[in-house]
Amino acid sequence: MAKKEEAAPAAAPAEVKKEKKEKKSQKERPHSKKKHTKVKIWKLYDVKGSTLTRKNEPCPRCGQGTFLAKYKTRKYCGKCGWSQISSSKSAE
Ligand SMILES: [Zn+2]
Repeated sequence: MAKKEEAAPAAAPAEVKKEKKEKKSQKERPHSKKKHTKVKIWKLYDVKGSTLTRKNEPCPRCGQGTFLAKYKTRKYCGKCGWSQISSSKSAE
């Protein structure tokens, strides 16, 4: 169990403790477990009784039916690529 490999004489003690720490290559590293999930379009709608409200803004280029993705600083349409960078606070 407790194997001590000190067979080498005092001549070269440094060479005994030479364990290479190999850097893991890209393949060996575990992949991130976040999987891309499809956009759940039903989450963008909100049904209250008999009225349907859309939570996200529609795209000005594509029109109704296409919603803008909301990020911290911008809005983006994944269909046409329309984007609007908004400042931290709406200056309107
Ligand atoms: Zn669009």
